Amino acid sequence: KPNVPVLDSYWMPFTANRQFKKAPRLFASAQGMHYTDVDGRTVLDGTAGLWCVNAGHGRRQIAEAVERQLTTLDYAPSFQMGHTIAFDFAERLAAIAPGPEGAKLDRIFFTGSGSESVDTALKIAVAYQRAIGQGTRTRLIGRERGYHGVGFGGISVGGLVNNRRVFPQLPGTDHLRHTFDPVRNGFVKGQPEHGAELADDLERLVALHGAETIAACIVEPVAGSTGVLPPPKGYLERLRSICDRHGILLIFDEVITGFGRLGAPFATDFFGVVPDIVTTAKGLTNGALPMGAVFASRKVHDALMQGPEGAIELFHGYTYSGHPAACAAGIATLDIYESEGLLGRAKQIQAEWDAAIHSLKGLPHITDIRTIGLIAGIELDSREGAPGTRAYDVFVDCFAKGLLIRVTGDIIALSPPLIVERGQIGEIVEILGAAIEAAA
Ligand code: PMP
Repeated sequence: KPNVPVLDSYWMPFTANRQFKKAPRLFASAQGMHYTDVDGRTVLDGTAGLWCVNAGHGRRQIAEAVERQLTTLDYAPSFQMGHTIAFDFAERLAAIAPGPEGAKLDRIFFTGSGSESVDTALKIAVAYQRAIGQGTRTRLIGRERGYHGVGFGGISVGGLVNNRRVFPQLPGTDHLRHTFDPVRNGFVKGQPEHGAELADDLERLVALHGAETIAACIVEPVAGSTGVLPPPKGYLERLRSICDRHGILLIFDEVITGFGRLGAPFATDFFGVVPDIVTTAKGLTNGALPMGAVFASRKVHDALMQGPEGAIELFHGYTYSGHPAACAAGIATLDIYESEGLLGRAKQIQAEWDAAIHSLKGLPHITDIRTIGLIAGIELDSREGAPGTRAYDVFVDCFAKGLLIRVTGDIIALSPPLIVERGQIGEIVEILGAAIEAAA
């Protein structure tokens, strides 16, 4: 009996990704750094699932905490009522919240995913502006090659042009025009000082639309899903100062960079640039249960909750906001991060990671290699007339050789669990290098 179900017998159980239909790869179990597929083959996880399983797979501590919670209080409404575990988790998160001591973004709103966190953050920004008497500020600025999930808010501020072409965009959204050109502006190529110049594109949008119409600007500190684009030096700092000058809130989407991916708890801490709102999900629960959290400054929170036209008028919250089992998973995840020092581990192995990944330099087809924290982006040249197919072949070959990578167009992304051992970094590079060499 084949292990792979007949594909025609169901319709789109996962994503709308057609590549899955071409060659399904089905996982059956996972432990530590490895998946096992339905044929019993072991696959090294080079992507922490989908940038989320930061502490590795199958953590018993998380499973036990979830079971305990489900048999104690499985679900309770968060409207009019509450439950203690959500407050316990919020308190734990507040202690490590992004931002410097004394000015942490320690006001926390729970959601069910990264996309929900983004929608929530955008709504908080607009509602905040209204609460401080700036009701004309409803415009939301994203940026080209930004990725903020698949809600209408997220795709509207996002930079995936195909999505924006198919779906109507939220009115009053616009985008910083610069697409990072990694080869010209990239982080690893000598960190040229293009950052400030690029961020000045926000001034163009302010001049075009008027500052009095703009509520917030949202960016990923390091763009992940669109191809691993670390910010050029000075970029985030300049965005912060332009936002300050014009009363615009700055939102960092840390769904990927949050919880230790860069070797600091948050990218906010890593870069030392403090936004007004931070979105998170993924590593919040180690991917064990779906959950997100939005961190806001006290300034934003207090105005929103107490302003004359504040949140009291608004209706926002999800059935699963602060879901008890997800909170239990989150607390257990934080326990692991803290006891194993995982939020700083990427920094400790940064030198080895960089050296290993950059040792791929010189292989055919590679046009750029970027690393930051425990993330790598390896860009290949496109096959003529068939962009993305070469990287996809590398993906298939790696999988056959026992390594899970991620590809976006012709860019290969790596982001292993933060527990990755040095020997496993070597394994990742060996398998990937062989697959790139074999790709015609
Ligand atoms: N924002 C960013 C930066 C992301 O990387 C993602 C997911 N890759 C999202 C938002 C959306 O998160 P989710 O898929 O949990 O909705």
